[in-house]
Amino acid sequence: MTALVIDEVSHRFGATVALNAVSLAVAKGEILCLVGPSGCGKSTLLRVAAGLEPLQVGRIALEGRVVAEAGKAELPPEARNVGFLFQDFALFPHLSVLENAAFGLHRLAPAERLPRARAALSRVGMEEMAQAYPHTLSGGQQQRVALARAMAPGPGLFFLDEPFSGIDARLRRRLLEDTWRLLKDSGSASVVVTHDPEEAMLLGDRVAVMRAGRVLQIGTPDAVYRRPESPFVAEFLGEVNKFRGTVGADGTVETPLGTVPAPGFAAGAPAAVIIRQHGVTVSMAETAPGSSVPVVVSWVRPMGAASLILLRRRDVGAGDPPIYARVPGRLRLAEGAQAYAGIDRDEVFVFPAETPKSA
Ligand code: ATP
Repeated sequence: MTALVIDEVSHRFGATVALNAVSLAVAKGEILCLVGPSGCGKSTLLRVAAGLEPLQVGRIALEGRVVAEAGKAELPPEARNVGFLFQDFALFPHLSVLENAAFGLHRLAPAERLPRARAALSRVGMEEMAQAYPHTLSGGQQQRVALARAMAPGPGLFFLDEPFSGIDARLRRRLLEDTWRLLKDSGSASVVVTHDPEEAMLLGDRVAVMRAGRVLQIGTPDAVYRRPESPFVAEFLGEVNKFRGTVGADGTVETPLGTVPAPGFAAGAPAAVIIRQHGVTVSMAETAPGSSVPVVVSWVRPMGAASLILLRRRDVGAGDPPIYARVPGRLRLAEGAQAYAGIDRDEVFVFPAETPKSA
């Protein structure tokens, strides 16, 4: 069953268009991640769907029931059977962990509340801290209690808005994994907002990439990453090089890393070629397959598992665009070294050259 349907929803704040005809659906049990740059409308979409922001245009249905439609009375947020976990998940400081977890259970008989809250705390591994107060907990523990509070009523749908922001990177990765498991075990549908593409791809069954109030592309992490439909999506999901060129009579585009096929493009068409930085291959020997462009390593930044390097072509004078490559850290490349570069074809995307208004 479809847990959430957003149908042609648009939203403005004064002159600012926050959402522009957004439509999407989330299936029961599915995790959908909304990802995009700051200000693209992710939080607004969640807030409108949850009923925290009045709907202006379009329609929202939850579990097959229309809860908001432009021009009609809306179902209030508390009647939508939705669990929230927002960025500033503010636990109530004067309530214990157990009382916080029981907060959304006022509709249950008093005798049922605490056992249900305890069960939710046990699912997030916080049962032993039931009597503690929020200020005595670490950030990660507080996030778990907030998650338990959202889960305790057993909602059909979870809305999580940047749930891991402000939590350090290592703990974040663990919380992400635990949260994924909890959301999946709940059997409910979830919509998670994040600005971090890696987080979105780790957590989401599908990822919706947003820009300027629109959903540009929605699909599995693999589909949006491997088959981006616009330069914006390709660039947003990974570090890239971007070159401009013109499609030749032979159907290829010339780039500083050699020619790439541009199927479906007319000869003479302007094209944007996007090559992921880790799709640039570098070798010290010209004979390495696929690496044949003579380059000099002009800058190296080791980052542990990978190194970011800047390459310049040796056979082209000043003015040639810089080429960035992410290579395995074990490849010891010295600044000034002469090398050969090439491209992994799976990491190359060719688009019509962008006009100022296109995505
Ligand atoms: P972030 O990742 O920074 O939270 P976001 O993608 O969640 O961004 P929104 O918070 O939905 O984006 O904001 C979308 C647009 O609407 C932005 O231009 C924002 O400034 C504007 N906006 C959001 N809420 C309001 C509000 N209450 N009043 C006025 N403008 C708002």
